[in-house]
Amino acid sequence: MLKVYNTLTRTKQEFKSIIPELVCMYSCGPTVYSYAHIGNLRTYIFMDLVRRLLKFEGFKIKGVMNITDVGHLMADADSGEDKMDSAARELNKTPIEIAEMYTDAFYIDLEKLNIEKPEIIVKATDHVNEMISYVEKLIQNGYAYEISDGIYFDRSKFPKYGILSGAKLDDQIAGIRVEVNNEKRHPADFALWKKAEPLHIMRWDSPWGEGYPGWHIECSVMSQKYLGETFDIHTGGVDHIPIHHENEIAQNEAISKKQSVNYWMHGEFMLVDGGKMSKSLKNTYTISDLEERGYSALDFRYFCLNAHYRSKLNFTFVGMDAAKKTRENLGQQLAKHKESTIETDKEILNNYRKSFKEAIEDDLNVPLALGILFTILKEPKSRCIYDLAIEFDAIFGLALDNVPDLTQKKSEDTIPIEILELANKRSFAKRNKDYVLADKIRSEISKNGYLIIDTKDGFTISKEGEKE
Ligand code: AMP
Ligand code: ZN
Repeated sequence: MLKVYNTLTRTKQEFKSIIPELVCMYSCGPTVYSYAHIGNLRTYIFMDLVRRLLKFEGFKIKGVMNITDVGHLMADADSGEDKMDSAARELNKTPIEIAEMYTDAFYIDLEKLNIEKPEIIVKATDHVNEMISYVEKLIQNGYAYEISDGIYFDRSKFPKYGILSGAKLDDQIAGIRVEVNNEKRHPADFALWKKAEPLHIMRWDSPWGEGYPGWHIECSVMSQKYLGETFDIHTGGVDHIPIHHENEIAQNEAISKKQSVNYWMHGEFMLVDGGKMSKSLKNTYTISDLEERGYSALDFRYFCLNAHYRSKLNFTFVGMDAAKKTRENLGQQLAKHKESTIETDKEILNNYRKSFKEAIEDDLNVPLALGILFTILKEPKSRCIYDLAIEFDAIFGLALDNVPDLTQKKSEDTIPIEILELANKRSFAKRNKDYVLADKIRSEISKNGYLIIDTKDGFTISKEGEKE
């Protein structure tokens, strides 16, 4: 039985989709004002694991992810500049150019990390008219009001507010230190639409003059448009629980009067060296930063799989070294199983299958599932074990059918220069059709304990007996 942890109920619950065999799922996507950092990417790996789990369980998925290309202010509340506007100014580009550049970079990261794109990816700027209509509806229904700098949601009209985070309205008001806008009915009311200041670049006509949408309304409008008033799963990082997702619930349910999401699933944060990631500390690494230091995106994916998605994960380069080495080791072990012609007993295989399924069905216990992968690799060499590992990889997404087998590379790396020279001489002899000399050199190479094999592209050399 598939169980997932639901932030809404704070329990692990049996998963049941609204429509049998189809899961409708929304994932908060990136704000495309800079490159995604490894923390952001941990959250998308988590989204990918949820998707892989659902597919493994036989569901089809209608997944929607937004691209936030407007409206996300520097602070998640309603203050600060729009992140897109500010990046455009800094780089002397238009917000559209900024959005395109970082959206493309984001897709490249997804591909490198083996993260399958959701079926529907939508841009906030393509839905501004729908957002305006939504805000109008909220005003008509008495949930929103206009003040001089925008339209705000009146939280006192939505008593359920705080259902996801457990925060009470009074606690939140007490937590707000400096109130920047005293026209608001409540300090904790949040913006649905902001009126554009004179220098604001991104702006649209609206019944309230030129302005731009609030970040929270985007996700409400796009999730409901593509998935309906009630859908199955909503994912995001834990930082979104107290503000962004509470606001989404308030907006959705104020209009629909229905529970908008059945399962809220949140991925925990990634820390760096035990602390917060921040630009000022220069520890917001990107995938390119990791690549420059000799790690692949899949080394990072593997690093993430070692922690449960609801545990904090501390990023260190020591940890990345270990991840890289373990992946290499996996490649070697898998290659040996793949070459074997021996079969493993079906019952043994089925027992492993069962344990694996139990692990992932228990709220996506991927670290435990990885443990099972390492256990099967200790079985006597067998092609069946290789095939089972590939079956498990439907969840891991580590491209196990293509992990570099570095056995050969390692031996080539250590081939003495004299042997390589002999091999080159032999190639030369062959090109000149001097096969007698070529054979003589081959046996000399062999006497030194190396094996040379001709391939269509040239030759490979390895230490004799090193490859099983
Ligand atoms: P943003 O582009 O800022 O909207 O963030 C994209 C996603 O990354 C959101 O789901 C955030 O919750 C998530 N996120 C941001 N920082 C971290 C972090 N340090 N660890 C894990 N997820 C994060
Ligand atoms: Zn969102």
